[in-house]
Amino acid sequence: MRGLTRTICFALAIIVPAFAGAEKPVVVLRDSSPAGTLTVREIETYLYISTDQLADLGGGKRYFAPKKFKESLRLWGSRVVFSPENPFVVIDGVPYNMGLPTKLNSDGLMVPLAGFFESFALATNSRVIIGADTIRITTAGTSQSGESSAQKEQKPAAKDITGQKSRQKKLIVVDPGHGGKDPGAIGPSGIREKDITLAIAKYLKDELESRGYQVVLTRESDRFITLSDRSKLANQLHADMFISIHCNASKNKNSHGTQGFYLSPAKTSEARATAALENKVLLIEDNPIIDNLDELQFIMADMLQSAYQRESSILAYVIEQNISRRTGLEARGPEGAGFYVLYGTYMPSVLVETAFISNPKEEKFLSKPKNQKKIAEAIADGIDQFFQNINH
Ligand SMILES: [Zn+2]
Repeated sequence: MRGLTRTICFALAIIVPAFAGAEKPVVVLRDSSPAGTLTVREIETYLYISTDQLADLGGGKRYFAPKKFKESLRLWGSRVVFSPENPFVVIDGVPYNMGLPTKLNSDGLMVPLAGFFESFALATNSRVIIGADTIRITTAGTSQSGESSAQKEQKPAAKDITGQKSRQKKLIVVDPGHGGKDPGAIGPSGIREKDITLAIAKYLKDELESRGYQVVLTRESDRFITLSDRSKLANQLHADMFISIHCNASKNKNSHGTQGFYLSPAKTSEARATAALENKVLLIEDNPIIDNLDELQFIMADMLQSAYQRESSILAYVIEQNISRRTGLEARGPEGAGFYVLYGTYMPSVLVETAFISNPKEEKFLSKPKNQKKIAEAIADGIDQFFQNINH
């Protein structure tokens, strides 16, 4: 369950009233020199600071891009980007989870104090000690007990899975759709979507690893995982890409073709129907967050836009084109829709509807291992093209 109340509040543009709780000054020391004083405020028992004050601290300006729902500032040479009601801060292009979302109130954007400075320390390889009245920041190279950034870079790749910047290989989280008590769509001859998606995902893992990528599957067997746990894993691992594999289904047995989807408000009724089908599993998850999927679509349509929407739409396109080229399946054209599994991922993320399991011809096609392998190779081609040409 992922803070739905929060999302609804934001979707409905409810701005909480100006803060009325305790305030206190905290001195920020950078390498033992005073860098400024922050007025720390308590919101719902957690300590927050405003982005205005953060910008002053770093001697930088703050830019608010209301249409993009983003606010960026410079802090001691690093570019820091926040989004309202969002727990992620992007520092020098790398997202970090602050553990608590930012709060938008009439004073502007409020940032969780501890979560932010811990993220900043990670991003800049510095040390932060938060005391009762002081925040001490020790920058890289001046720390006595810490390691210099150069030393950290030399650690073996195996330790880099959460190290983000020092990781040599791109990490891709591949998500075989459905599993366990959720079979997904079932074809006319009884083939289950969850089995096809797992088979393709395993081929994809092998293929990508042979091309030098690091790959983590959200499931390696026939087990149930919630939609939010899938995207959460990708965020926790700081993955460079998230690919959710599915088979499409329609009441119209003639519907056919392959299609790449990204998160965005749906523009066509077909895209909306596909997303509704894939979101349906929310109803059987242990903690059903909502019992009205139309309402969910509404919330997702209104929520803040992902910073990665453009990249995701390009990725959806190149994957779809490559699948069509390798398999002869018709490319239906990439589309945006409200897929819950893609919601909140901080990396280029797509959902691939490989083919229609509801179409007898395509069901047969999907059931053959050689075709599953072809689809996997085509997805890998798309990923290669994406990284080579778009996202370095
Ligand atoms: Zn599916």
